[in-house]
Amino acid sequence: MRSTVTRKIQGASSEFVRDINRRIILNLIRTRHPISRADLARMSGLQRSTVSLIVEQLIAEHWVLEGPTGRLPRGRRPTFLRLNDERVIIAVDIRPIQTTVALADANGRFLSQEIMATSPDPKLTMTSLTEAIQRLIAGSRRKKIEGVGISVPGRYDDTTDRLVFAPNLKWPEADIRNPIAKATGLEVTVENAANACVLAAVWFDHMEECRNLVVVTISEGIGTGVWANGQLVRGACGMAGEFGHVPLDPQGPPCGCGGRGCWEVYGSNRAALRYYLESNPEAADLTFQDLLSRAEQGDGKAAAALETMAHYAGRGLRMVVAGLAPERVVVVGDLTRSWHRFGPIIESELQAQVLPGGAAPRVVPAYEDGMARLRGTVALVLQKDFGNLSEVVR
Ligand SMILES: [Zn+2]
Repeated sequence: MRSTVTRKIQGASSEFVRDINRRIILNLIRTRHPISRADLARMSGLQRSTVSLIVEQLIAEHWVLEGPTGRLPRGRRPTFLRLNDERVIIAVDIRPIQTTVALADANGRFLSQEIMATSPDPKLTMTSLTEAIQRLIAGSRRKKIEGVGISVPGRYDDTTDRLVFAPNLKWPEADIRNPIAKATGLEVTVENAANACVLAAVWFDHMEECRNLVVVTISEGIGTGVWANGQLVRGACGMAGEFGHVPLDPQGPPCGCGGRGCWEVYGSNRAALRYYLESNPEAADLTFQDLLSRAEQGDGKAAAALETMAHYAGRGLRMVVAGLAPERVVVVGDLTRSWHRFGPIIESELQAQVLPGGAAPRVVPAYEDGMARLRGTVALVLQKDFGNLSEVVR
């Protein structure tokens, strides 16, 4: 991580340069802490005096804390710097069945969590969500709350403040941001779940060096979040990344979006349950986890259903890879628990279609404990102070 930015913006105001340098230092402390001033200077390429000035400012703003002192065999004992974990973020993950509200510190560590049912009526969910946030605020008097980040299973148009496309949530168009911002007095940011997972990967899983990354979330539906040329791609109305609703067969089964035969109709958890039910009609009311367990216990029909899902997951990914040429594809979802079934099939589907001059991306399962979206919302809130990483990472 080296600062080439300052050279790129010759002619820009010195205030702008100071701001960029501040973000570089803040991000180095975030990703490399505990870290000394000397190491900050070495890694940023900035002068030692510049680093010291910025660090003093960050300490005065309570972003950074000093100590403990480093232990070197000889010579001076450097003082290590770290982020102030008294600065906290309220992280919210709205899913079709349940909503999680959590408190996290600036290092992405979770301090508390509350889970509630998601109502089919957005107003009811907003009310209980606001109450949960107010309880967190009341319990965090001595901390500085940076804001609220919300992940939604749909696309959010932040120019009109509307949840515009959420076929698995089945809410009407709703303003999620303003009611919560008004009731709590906090800054609220809303982002699509797959995009939140992209931010989690880039911020907390040290994938910041990866300039082209696609996160595919496979659950009830299929969502993709696109990080291209070091930027999150949101598109017009926040609608970019809806590969899950490209029809693989326009005559296929109906999809929640109103279309037919979309990729997610064939490659999602729900699709695997449908394949299983076709071969085993008594098995109604099964969850995807049940299906994974049955396959592990030797149920051949369950294994075959998962195999079909894996083939379609990989086949749909071909269009993502052909269109965006990512270096890495991160797969998020319960299927990663049985990656030995899914990984080889998805990879072989991608290998079967490497275009001349191209290369198949690395496919990485994100073994998530359900936290990727929440961690992504932490990054979403911190972005306003830490900046878009593409500005500071080269
Ligand atoms: Zn669809």
